[in-house]
Amino acid sequence: MDFALTPEQEAFRAEIRQFLATEVPEDKRTEDGWIVGFSREFSRKLGARGLIGVTWPKKYGGQERSYLDRVILTEELLRAGAPVAAHWLGDRQVGPALLAYGSEEQKAEILPRVTSGEIVFCLGMSEPGAGSDLASLRTKAEEDGDDFLLTGQKIWTSFAHVADYAYLVARTDANAPKHKGISEFLVDMKTPGVTVRPLIDITGEHHFNEVFFDGARIGKKWLIGEKNRGWYQIASQLDYERSGIERLLSNYPLFRDTVKYAKEQGLTKDPVIRNQLAQMRIELDIGRSLVYKVAWSLTKGFVPNYEAAMAKCFCTEVEQRIAQTVSSILGDYAVLMPGSPAARLAGRAAHEYLYAPAYTIQGGTSNVLRNIMAIRGLGLQAG
Ligand SMILES: Cc1cc2nc3c(=O)[nH]c(=O)nc-3n(C[C@H](O)[C@H](O)[C@H](O)COP(=O)(O)OP(=O)(O)OC[C@H]3O[C@@H](n4cnc5c(N)ncnc54)[C@H](O)[C@@H]3O)c2cc1C
Repeated sequence: MDFALTPEQEAFRAEIRQFLATEVPEDKRTEDGWIVGFSREFSRKLGARGLIGVTWPKKYGGQERSYLDRVILTEELLRAGAPVAAHWLGDRQVGPALLAYGSEEQKAEILPRVTSGEIVFCLGMSEPGAGSDLASLRTKAEEDGDDFLLTGQKIWTSFAHVADYAYLVARTDANAPKHKGISEFLVDMKTPGVTVRPLIDITGEHHFNEVFFDGARIGKKWLIGEKNRGWYQIASQLDYERSGIERLLSNYPLFRDTVKYAKEQGLTKDPVIRNQLAQMRIELDIGRSLVYKVAWSLTKGFVPNYEAAMAKCFCTEVEQRIAQTVSSILGDYAVLMPGSPAARLAGRAAHEYLYAPAYTIQGGTSNVLRNIMAIRGLGLQAG
């Protein structure tokens, strides 16, 4: 079996590395670049180089590249700690959803503005009382002439405070069984009746929000795909959401800089530390092969389901172990040397240590993913 990439794929990787070396200097690199690294300017630069929506048709600004090329691109962006949050959701999720189910008008109006790095999306799925059990959502979209009227509340909505559009799931038939009365919409965040309220996370960052819809009116042209078929349309979208390499490399820059620091300081002479770092390296490689397997399946034309759950579950747990391992290696030692490189690393490690529980919650909890692996992967049924 040959795991090597083709010369064209290696050339693509080299081109991206070269771009990132100048555009993301060492002091601008960040952990969680796809979560907190928000820069419209950087996204526009990527867009100008044709590096957003790379798998999409050329007529919408894409490059018609393979999913493997997309993994290579995202891997390099995250390894470099690039600030990619502004276009991440449009590129990863909303674009593919529109390509699969959107009207021609929606595709023509929205996709070129995603590939140019112009517009920012948030995902309005979770609600108080509807997280893992998303089909229990209660936000209503009621038909009123040529419009839908939106009423309800979303929660944990990342980027809602900076987004131009929300991708929203809402109930369009209150009398149907819960999976059968849901539809998908695009909502302009400036629509009257949409209110965003910040939620500050444990690290002190404003990343997610509550979003309230009080009779917000949107035209029917913003319904995505078929009314009441939203649940079935979402399913494949969640697989895209779960299976990217961002589920492995969120805090990779911290890992890499810690290895460098440990070598420079001679800490790797300690067999315990050497072992811990080697273990993390091995786990990163296993996670990478799971993500590449999913991308390879997509290039063969099928949407992986339990494989995406496996990748997300394993990889996000690796990210948590990286945060813990790095923190334990740096420990008090770092805090005792304010101003030293260790202290700077310790600040980043502390941030990651606090943030890390989110990795196995956002995009589907590990418990729920294990259910998917059991039911769809192993064919087990609840007793
Ligand atoms: C940082 C962050 C960003 C987020 N961004 C967004 C966003 O942009 N848009 C959005 O819509 N949502 C977002 N979310 C919400 C996220 O999708 C939900 O938090 C997640 O799906 C879990 O839902 P919940 O919080 O309601 O927990 P619950 O579903 O109430 O789960 C609570 C606990 O019960 C367990 N559990 C639930 N059901 C089962 C089951 N069937 N079997 C076994 N165990 C189960 C869970 O594993 C968990 O441990 C974000 C969350 C975080 C942490």
